[in-house]
Order: sequence, then structure tokens, then C-alpha cells
Amino acid sequence: MDIKHCPSCGSSRIKKVRGSLSRTFEGESYTVPSLTYHECPDCGERAYEPDAVRKIQAKSPAYRKELAVR
Ligand SMILES: [Zn+2]
Repeated sequence: MDIKHCPSCGSSRIKKVRGSLSRTFEGESYTVPSLTYHECPDCGERAYEPDAVRKIQAKSPAYRKELAVR
């Protein structure tokens, strides 16, 4: 997948970057390493590819909880 325009503001300056993502969910922080995503320098929007989303979900306490309920 290659994103040419920002889904949020339409900017064509959105670019693919690689790095780790840190998030906090209900006071619990977690880091997802080696992610590839698109970041818009104009509005700060980040777009994740399906593969990156799967990695985030695998690390996220939110999804872990959801899985535990089932
Ligand atoms: Zn944008």
C-alpha cells in the first residue's frame, strides 16, 4: 500500500516513515517496535498499513482485554 495523499487534510507531502510507536491505554504504556507508517507533516495525521495495525493490536492492552473477554 502506498499513500499519496493524507486521508485527513489531503496533503501530498505525507511520507512513509519507520520507527517505534508509543501509546498509553488506561495508564498502561506500551511500545510497538519497527513499524512502518505514513506521517503527514502538515497536520500530523498518521496512517497505518494493515500489517502495522496488526502489530499494534498484538501489543495493545485494549485488544488483549477484548480477547480475554471472549
Ligand atoms: Zn495531513
